[in-house]
Amino acid sequence: MRTTAVIGGAGGIGSAIVEQLLAAGDFVHVLDLEERRATAAPLVDAWPQRCAFVGCDLGRPEDISAAFAGIEARGAGLDVFVSAAGVIQRGPFVEVPADALDAMLTVNVRGAYQALQAAARLMMAGGGGRIVIVASAHGLRTTSERSAYAMCKGAMLALTRALAVELGPHGILVNAVAPGPVSVGMQDAESESRRRWQAATPLGRVAEAGEVARAVAFLACAENTFVSGETLVVDGGANVSM
Ligand code: NAD
Repeated sequence: MRTTAVIGGAGGIGSAIVEQLLAAGDFVHVLDLEERRATAAPLVDAWPQRCAFVGCDLGRPEDISAAFAGIEARGAGLDVFVSAAGVIQRGPFVEVPADALDAMLTVNVRGAYQALQAAARLMMAGGGGRIVIVASAHGLRTTSERSAYAMCKGAMLALTRALAVELGPHGILVNAVAPGPVSVGMQDAESESRRRWQAATPLGRVAEAGEVARAVAFLACAENTFVSGETLVVDGGANVSM
């Protein structure tokens, strides 16, 4: 049985990823803010032998260390790590306050980076693994009032490539998914931007979380033996449409 961990695993997309990994037969550590424990409880309760919640705030490096020490202590290594936590604050570029910028950088980049370091150390000790970073279509192209979020997601796509290069010799494959709008989670269901995206998407709708989760599951699966450093865009074709 593979050991997997999903940070942001109680979120809209994260919980769909957790479900996919459970369906694949994995043991899944669901890492998320302690206050999200109750949100994750239905999945943890449904799979008591194979799903465990671990409170972890990406803004607190000591939480990250403790969470991964707990995974290591279980003694089964770490085969798959999915970075799916994230926060967004929208606003005109010239008005974004420093605390909003810090909040996004702390979770989306700094904390994610430190969690990836901890995951990579475990995988290197175990001789390999799969890392999947949930970035965003905003890391490639974007709309107004998403400057800090787009910057964070672009950074994570660059990190995906850098880690594929550096960790490949250790048998670790590193990829990203870049979803367009998804029907759950941080996406504002009624926003004008979502309506524009939907209209510009050849498939004429936004993604379901499961559609993103299945892309993640492919990149994370043992049968993926040679795709690394890639960004899989999951946006119904919006990215290639004029
Ligand atoms: P969500 O808000 O439902 O999930 C985000 C999760 O991250 C939550 O469970 C939250 O508790 C967790 N989180 C936030 N701050 C944290 C912290 N400090 N420490 C640990 N965990 C923390 O949103 P979502 O839409 O499911 O987003 C999941 C990922 O998908 C994010 O990286 C987001 O940027 C990305 N994404 C979302 C969409 C979308 O339309 N929903 C589109 C593209 C990419």
